[in-house]
Amino acid sequence: MTSSVLQFQITHLIKTRLRQDIQSMHAYAIQDAAGFVKLDAMENPHRLSPQLQAELGQRLGALALNRYPDGRVDVLRKALADFAQMPDGYGLMLGNGSDELISLLAMALDVPPVQSGSVQPPVILAPEPGFVMYAMSAKFQGLQYVGVPLTANFELDEAAMLAAITLHKPALVYLAYPNNPTANLWDDASITKIIEAQGQQGGLVVMDEAYQPFAARSWIDNIRNTPEKHAHVLLMRTLSKFGLAGVRIGYMMGATALINEVDKLRPPYNISVLNCECALFALEHADVFKQQALELIDQRAIILKALRSMAGVKCWNSDANMILVRVADSQKTFDAMKARGVLVKNVSKMHPLLTHCLRLTVGTADENRLLLAALQNSL
Ligand SMILES: *Cc1c(COP(=O)(O)O)cnc(C)c1O
Repeated sequence: MTSSVLQFQITHLIKTRLRQDIQSMHAYAIQDAAGFVKLDAMENPHRLSPQLQAELGQRLGALALNRYPDGRVDVLRKALADFAQMPDGYGLMLGNGSDELISLLAMALDVPPVQSGSVQPPVILAPEPGFVMYAMSAKFQGLQYVGVPLTANFELDEAAMLAAITLHKPALVYLAYPNNPTANLWDDASITKIIEAQGQQGGLVVMDEAYQPFAARSWIDNIRNTPEKHAHVLLMRTLSKFGLAGVRIGYMMGATALINEVDKLRPPYNISVLNCECALFALEHADVFKQQALELIDQRAIILKALRSMAGVKCWNSDANMILVRVADSQKTFDAMKARGVLVKNVSKMHPLLTHCLRLTVGTADENRLLLAALQNSL
């Protein structure tokens, strides 16, 4: 077969057998970061110490890589439940990162049968700008996604959220606490009302606490204090921002019966023996990661102070390991910072509210000095 015939066949297959809507989508873009001061993806800047590397290496080397993952994942589930101080009556499921949990949730939502054409697919609703996977997971699953704009200062628009819940009756509302890329914790009274309204119309809420290690508050305390108001609320966390972005462990807690249903959709061996053992090892050394989180919180304060006195930069408060800033010309500043060897994320095209915004990840003291100098010189 000549290669042009082969090409034609492949093109024909894609056209006739693969989803048209996927063909018009863009793949999730990951920036090439080799050689840069990498402050674009909310990673913990620290690697394991040489001693911990050696210890972990020993443990990973001794694993039965020839076997499928076994009951060891239950040990991890228990360790995470203890670490998070999971509320009574709750269950916990594991994902290959929370990204996988977000996909599984979209899969789990009930799709009404298509009859007259008037039956709409379930709605996933989230404030915008927010985490892109909420919208992507809905689209991948053929569900409807509704984004409700935040205010100009990235606070929840409580009235708009409540109106959208009444109008769309979403199956699921995502609230990132704190939010990405705006890094703020939204008003608790507004969240309480949204959770209540969503419960009244029979929908679910996911509190996504990916940045919990750096946040002043966690919604878990509200769940513990008023469990009767939170039966429909799921709490999502991840070890990525904690310090294990490469390991891919996310977890979701909620009423045991709810979690058990979603868990049926999980690929049976989604947590590799390597990921599982790395996560257990990290939890055994949780004090090391706690110390790093405290250092990053201190560094965040130092960066924010510097940004506030920098002419031509507007910044917002942060409860995460990232800081959102607005500059006069985001593309020019992004490019100039990159030319100086510092890679951040240009989020200005993600949403109209983010015009000329860049998202800076908090790094080590040395990296942050380079970041601030690069920014100052790139305005
Ligand atoms: C980073 C992030 C996640 C997912 O991270 P995983 O690496 O897939 O666990 C989830 N939600 C928000 C808001 C995030 O920023």
